[in-house]
Amino acid sequence: MSMAEKSLVYTNENCIGCNKCISACPVLTANYAIEQNGENKIVVNGDACIACGACFDACEHEARSYQDDTERFFEDLKRGEKISLLLAPAFLANYPKEYASVLGGLKDLGINHIISVSFGADITTWGYIKYITEHNFTGGISQPCPAVVGYIEKYMPELLPKLMPVHSPLMCGAIYIKKYMKLSDKLAFISPCIAKKMEIEDPNTYGYVSYNVTFDHLMDYVRKHNIKGKNASDEIEYGLGSIYPMPGGLKENVYWFCGEEMFIRQVEGEKHMYEFLEDYKERVLKGRKLPFMVDALNCANGCVYGTAIEPEKAKVDDNLYALQEIKERSKRNGRNHPFSKGLSPKQRLHRLNSKFAKLDINDFIRKYTDHSKEITIKKPSREELDKIYGSMEKRTEHERTINCSACGYETCEKMARAIYNGCNTKNNCLHYMKNMIEKEKETAEELSREMHEKNAIIEQKNRKISEVVESVANDFGLLDKSIHEMAAGNTNNAEESTNINLLMMKVVDFSDELKKALEGIETLTRSLQSNNEEITNVADETNLLSLNASIEAARAGSAGRGFAIIAENIKKLADSTSPFRSQPTRHSSICQSRNILLSFLYNNQVENTEISVHNASSNRLALPLSSSPWSVTGMPPIQQQAHSAMGQNTLLHGKTLLVIPTADPDHITLPLFTKSISGYFRGHALLIEGAELALVIHLDELLTAGGGEGDVQLHLDQRATNF
Ligand code: SF4
Ligand code: SF4
Ligand code: SF4
Repeated sequence: MSMAEKSLVYTNENCIGCNKCISACPVLTANYAIEQNGENKIVVNGDACIACGACFDACEHEARSYQDDTERFFEDLKRGEKISLLLAPAFLANYPKEYASVLGGLKDLGINHIISVSFGADITTWGYIKYITEHNFTGGISQPCPAVVGYIEKYMPELLPKLMPVHSPLMCGAIYIKKYMKLSDKLAFISPCIAKKMEIEDPNTYGYVSYNVTFDHLMDYVRKHNIKGKNASDEIEYGLGSIYPMPGGLKENVYWFCGEEMFIRQVEGEKHMYEFLEDYKERVLKGRKLPFMVDALNCANGCVYGTAIEPEKAKVDDNLYALQEIKERSKRNGRNHPFSKGLSPKQRLHRLNSKFAKLDINDFIRKYTDHSKEITIKKPSREELDKIYGSMEKRTEHERTINCSACGYETCEKMARAIYNGCNTKNNCLHYMKNMIEKEKETAEELSREMHEKNAIIEQKNRKISEVVESVANDFGLLDKSIHEMAAGNTNNAEESTNINLLMMKVVDFSDELKKALEGIETLTRSLQSNNEEITNVADETNLLSLNASIEAARAGSAGRGFAIIAENIKKLADSTSPFRSQPTRHSSICQSRNILLSFLYNNQVENTEISVHNASSNRLALPLSSSPWSVTGMPPIQQQAHSAMGQNTLLHGKTLLVIPTADPDHITLPLFTKSISGYFRGHALLIEGAELALVIHLDELLTAGGGEGDVQLHLDQRATNF
């Protein structure tokens, strides 16, 4: 059976995953944990389940249900199917008042014969004693209980030879009806037992019984459909077979016919029964002393309180009292009856054999099938068990024997074996989850600590940036004033003023960019991710603005004082943002042309010109734009020395230069250079132009506040034409 199919016993939607069913179940693998909509549920593996019903009693949430044939029985009856009933003796004990009217109602619906299984039980008793005496078969385990038979067939094949090879009362009754009464009717068992469905569907019972109609479902249907009729009763007389459904009922029958000298081991209970079988198996395998026979029932209070009776009926002793009355009625006073009270056991047995003299014991012999190969419960090796314990974070002996049962299993070892068999997961171990939660808590605390530290650092940086921005904003007023002065006082500087205005607009644009960058930084603060690129951009652009501001301030002369101040502050802003970079500064590569582009776009762009450098001593050196293929890289200090590629002039400068050559003039993405760039630079910049680019800018020095080497002028040489 696939796990997706609804099994005989199944979990309904009430399950809350409390694991109680696991603790009650005698089969390790009959329950397995699944996750459904994020919740733990315990469902039934129908192949492994023996329908013992223990989980019904254990579950406080009524989350276990079972299937029987009640619906099909009534549908077939309505369709006119010819059906006779085999009635469990427990039905009378459970419904002493309704018994007759319900049977009458069923008769009205078309039921043919009603035969009590008590009669079948009398045949079973006869068959057991006959087989035991004829085959000297001692130590046999009774087999009226299909849960017990199912358990032995699936999990204890060693005990199969010990199962009494005679059919149960139900099947003895069915065989009698079919073979001796020659009835061809379909047979329905009115049953107190869920597991009887397994028995009637077992190929070893030949399909003689077609329906397992349980008390609970039958009476539910009867009440819903108001089925009752003129009183009716079962048809064949029976004897002490009527007490088979009570604990020790079979034992009492055997004592009745064989005397009480022999030891009959009576054992019942969904848990105790299977623990007993473990021990019994050991006795059998070791050849130790065995009882005359074992009277074994799955249900602690016998079939009269079977797994399929109505729950309210299970709460009171009424059934037992009713059964006691049935038992007394079954004993007769006449001397010719096997159930006569005044006879010795030997005389009773003699009369029993006479009663069933026409029966052939071979008709009632039962075979069993070893299902242990189909339903295996794997046993992990010591190493495999250790591995599972490891995955459950159970490293010490103490951790492996907590045995709190929260997972449903009595011991941690059982849980580990269930995990090994794929029936459960470590997540259902309370202590594993507790460990995990503690670890999560520690990680969360560590993260929280780190977050606080990072927040503090970022807040500090934000404060610094805000201070610089505020300073720049303050200087905008002064800059504005200077621009107005320049515009009013010097018409010759109209062109420069225009440039300054343009630059001013750029400064405003830059201010916007800066604002956005700061917003970005705030976002980064929240997400705790470092994104230095924005800051780097700000720094770079600020540097270049500083350069332009310096240039334009120099052009404006005294009128550009305010502009010089803002240039100074923008420079400071660049300096203050640069520490936030995590990337190396970019002055080593002129390929980052957008920075340079920003510097010179405002100026008149002149091609084919010469750039010259004015050193500290005003020694003007023209640097022609040579076509020599330079390959100088890095930052060599260039002293006043001739360079063959430089043509007529040599750079006189003691500072480090960056020379980035390119073989392709198209790679130069910025047009060089302003025609009037000979103004005062706050730092000193050095430019060398060669034929295949050739821009040399020592940006760091350019951006360094003034002083140092003094005036350095950049000017254009109209002779150079190699751009
Ligand atoms: S009926 Fe019995 S064997 Fe089946 S799941 Fe319930 S407790 Fe386990
Ligand atoms: S006892 Fe089992 S079936 Fe019932 S609610 Fe708990 S986990 Fe679910
Ligand atoms: S410690 Fe875990 S595995 Fe052991 S019994 Fe408790 S819940 Fe089950």
